[in-house]
Amino acid sequence: MGRYTYNVIPSVQTKVVFPFERDIGISYVKLLLHYTMLEDDSYRTGTSTTPACECRSGRETAEHFLIHCTGYTQIIKDTIEVALYIVNCVLPTSFLKMYFER
Ligand SMILES: [Zn+2]
Repeated sequence: MGRYTYNVIPSVQTKVVFPFERDIGISYVKLLLHYTMLEDDSYRTGTSTTPACECRSGRETAEHFLIHCTGYTQIIKDTIEVALYIVNCVLPTSFLKMYFER
């Protein structure tokens, strides 16, 4: 747990900013502490028989779930585009489609 947190937050002085939505903040902390219902965490704690993801392309870790899972390819792509929009203030096409073509 400590080593993983260090990989994400390498400096003790780093101020972690959590979202205003409490349930989203709780999810962030659970991902950070490896205390989720993802298969890899469940396998480690003995509540799952396998650490493998349903997509069969790897262990269902937080990183796999958020970045690499082939089962959520479009959601991951949209999330990354929205994150890039927030950082660069460039509105991605898929973001427009997602919110204005319903
Ligand atoms: Zn997967």
